[in-house]
Amino acid sequence: MTLLSTSIVYLKGVGPERAAVLTKELQVETFGDLLMHYPYRYVDRSRFTLISELNDTQQYVQLKGKFSRMEEHGEGRKRRLSAIFSDESGSVDVIWFNGIKWAKETIQPGMTYVLFDKPGLFNNRYNFTHPELEPLSVYESSGKNGHQALYRTSDKMKHKGLDSRTIHRLINQILQQIKSHDVREILPEQLLQQYQLPGRFETMHMIHQPVSMDDYRKALRRLKFEELFLLQLQLVRLKLLRQKEEGLVFPKLADYFNRFYQQHLPFSLTEAQKRVIREIRKDTMSGYQMNRLLQGDVGSGKTIVSVLTMLMALDNGFQAALMAPTEILAQQHFKGISELLAPMGIQVAILTGSVKGKQRKLLLSDLAEGNIQILIGTHALIEDPVVFKNLGMVVIDEQHRFGVEQRARLRDKGILPPHILVMTATPIPRSLAMVFYGDLDYSVIDELPPGRKPITTVHKYDAQRLAVYGFLRDEIAKGRQVYIVYPLIEESEKSDLASLMEGFESICQAFPRPTYHVSVLHGKMKPEYKEEEMRRFVKGETHIMVATTVIEVGVNVPNASVMLIENAERFGLSQLHQLRGRVGRGAEQSFCILMTSYKLSKEGKKRIQTMCETNDGFKVSEADLELRGPGDVEGTRQSGDVLLKMANLATDKAILETARDAATGILATDPDLSLPGHAGLRRYLQIMQEKTGKDWSTVL
Ligand code: ADP
Ligand code: MG
Repeated sequence: MTLLSTSIVYLKGVGPERAAVLTKELQVETFGDLLMHYPYRYVDRSRFTLISELNDTQQYVQLKGKFSRMEEHGEGRKRRLSAIFSDESGSVDVIWFNGIKWAKETIQPGMTYVLFDKPGLFNNRYNFTHPELEPLSVYESSGKNGHQALYRTSDKMKHKGLDSRTIHRLINQILQQIKSHDVREILPEQLLQQYQLPGRFETMHMIHQPVSMDDYRKALRRLKFEELFLLQLQLVRLKLLRQKEEGLVFPKLADYFNRFYQQHLPFSLTEAQKRVIREIRKDTMSGYQMNRLLQGDVGSGKTIVSVLTMLMALDNGFQAALMAPTEILAQQHFKGISELLAPMGIQVAILTGSVKGKQRKLLLSDLAEGNIQILIGTHALIEDPVVFKNLGMVVIDEQHRFGVEQRARLRDKGILPPHILVMTATPIPRSLAMVFYGDLDYSVIDELPPGRKPITTVHKYDAQRLAVYGFLRDEIAKGRQVYIVYPLIEESEKSDLASLMEGFESICQAFPRPTYHVSVLHGKMKPEYKEEEMRRFVKGETHIMVATTVIEVGVNVPNASVMLIENAERFGLSQLHQLRGRVGRGAEQSFCILMTSYKLSKEGKKRIQTMCETNDGFKVSEADLELRGPGDVEGTRQSGDVLLKMANLATDKAILETARDAATGILATDPDLSLPGHAGLRRYLQIMQEKTGKDWSTVL
C-alpha cells in the first residue's frame, strides 16, 4: 500500500461521510485520486482589492481591513451574526449563520484581517457570508501571496462542508505528506527533456500551489500532454495491432465488381472516389484486417464507394453488410442499392427492428446459409442472433458515434474479423478524428461530383415568414419540392411533437389543397407510415415534407431544392450542415433558409453566420469545435468512451499532434513497452487496465 493508494477516508478531516460524498461526486477514492482533482482556475492572492473597487462581476476578491459593530440577530434557526468590515475606502457586511460562537470568540475588533471570498450584493451593499479570514500577520507568514487554486464542488459536497477552500486544504495536506517517490513518473525521461515538461511530482505542486502563472502554465501543459499522449499511445498501439491482425484476403476483382464498374455505374467516379477505392482495394489484398475511416462532405458520393467496396467482398465469395443509423436511411439504402444491383442478380436484403416473426426467422436462416449476399440494416445488425455464413465486409454509414466498443463486437461475427469501413456523416476536424478514430486508417473524399451548384444559405426572421412562403410557392410552381424541419431534440418530448404538429397544421393552411400536398414525418410514427410518406415525397406526389431531424442524414431526393429550418438556433452546426445537405442534390439551384426569432444568443448567431458563409463541411466542423469552446466535453461524451479532463480538442491541437508523434515514435522502437525507460508507461497502463477491466495490450 502506497501513500497515494490509501483510502481517502483516512485523510485527516475527511472521515466516512465526506469520503462517501467525494467518491459519489468526484469518483475520488484514494489520496491519489484527490491529488488528481485539479483546480479549474486560480485567483491572484498577491493583491488586495479596495472595497470601493468592488463590482458585481468579480468572482473571488481579497480585502484587507478591520471589524466593527458585531451584532447578533434573530433566534433559533434564524440566528445570525453580522459585522461591519472596513478599509480606508469603504465598508461591507460580513454575516455568519454557522460558527457564530467561534466568530464571536475569535474575531478581535481593531485587528487587521485578510478576507477572501466571493462578494454578494444585497440592498445595494456588498456582503460576504462565512468568508475565509486570517489575521494579516498569519497571512503574511503563510506564504499565501501567490495564486490560489479554486476547485469544482457540488451542492452535495458543500452540504458536507467540502467547498473549494476545504478541498484545497485537504490537497495541501496530501502535498505536505508526499515525497517524490510517492508520485511515480509515468512519462519517459527522454520525453520530459525533449518537450521540456516538468516531472510529475513537481507538476502536482505546481498545479495546486503555483507560485506564478508561468508555473501553472507549465504544469497545465504537462498534464494535457500526458492525457493526450496516454490516449494516443493506446490508440496507436491498437492500430499497430490491428494492422498486424490477420485478415480476410480478397485476391481478385471479378465479375461483380468489373461488370458493375463497366456497365452499371450511373456516372463516372470523381478522382477522389477512385483514390479511396484504390486505398480500400489495397487494404483488402494485404492479408490484414481493414479498419478505415472514410471522411467526405455531405453529398460527396460515399454510397457508391460503399457499394463497390461490398462488391469486392462478393467477388471473393463473402457476404457484406451495410449499417445505417436510422431505419429510414436503411430503407433508402436498401431501395437504392437493390435497384443498382438488380441487373447483376445480387441478393440484397434488409433487416431492421421492424422485421419480425416468421419473416425475420426466414431472413436469418437465409443469411446463415449464405443466400443473402448483401444485408442492409440498422444497428440491429450487430445483435447476437444475427449470424452470417461468411461476413467479409462491414460498412458503417453516416456515423459520428460508432465507437471502439461497437467495432469490437463486429469482430465476433466471423472467424476472421470482417473488414470495416466507417463513413462519417459530416466531416469531423482532424483533431477529433485523431481522438475518436485514432486507431483507424484514414481516407478522405475532398471533391464533390461535378456540376453541383453551391447551395445558397440565408437567414430569415419569423417576421419575414410571408415572404418566405411566397418564395416556397414559386419554387413549387417550378416543379421543385421543399423540406420544412422542426427541432426535436428529444423525440420523447411531447411539447416538441406538439410544435411539429402545430407547424404541420399551419403549413397545411398556408399551402392548401388541392394545389399543394403536404406530408409529415417524425420518429414516433409507425414504420409503415413513415415509409409511405417518404415514398410519396420521393415520387413527387407531395410538395412539402414537414419533418423532424429524422431526415437529417442520408435522405436523397434530388428534386428537393429548398430546406427550410425552423428555430434554426436550436440546432448544432453539424446538424444544420447535414440538413442542408438534403438539398443541392440535383441540377437545380438549391436554397437553405434558416428561420429564427430576433432573440438569438451570441453563439446561435455565430452558428447561423457560419452556415451562411460556407458550404464546406470541413470548415463547418472546425467552426463547430471552436464554438463549443474550452471545457465542453459534451460532444466527446456522446462520441464514446473518451473523456478528456485537461485537454481541449479545439485549442490544444498542437499538443495533440505532438502527443501523437511522440506515441508513434515510442511504439515504433518499443511496441510492447518493454524497455526499462518505458516501465512507468507500462505500469500506468496496467493500473488503468485493472481499473477499467480492459486489456490495453490486446483490445481497448
Ligand atoms: P454522401 O456522401 O452524402 O453519402 P451520396 O453517396 O448520397 O453522398 O451521393 C450524393 C449524390 O451524388 C447521389 O445522388 C449520387 O448518386 C451522386 N453522385 C455520387 N457520386 C457521383 C459522381 N461521381 N458523379 C455524379 N454524381 C454522383
Ligand atoms: Mg450517405
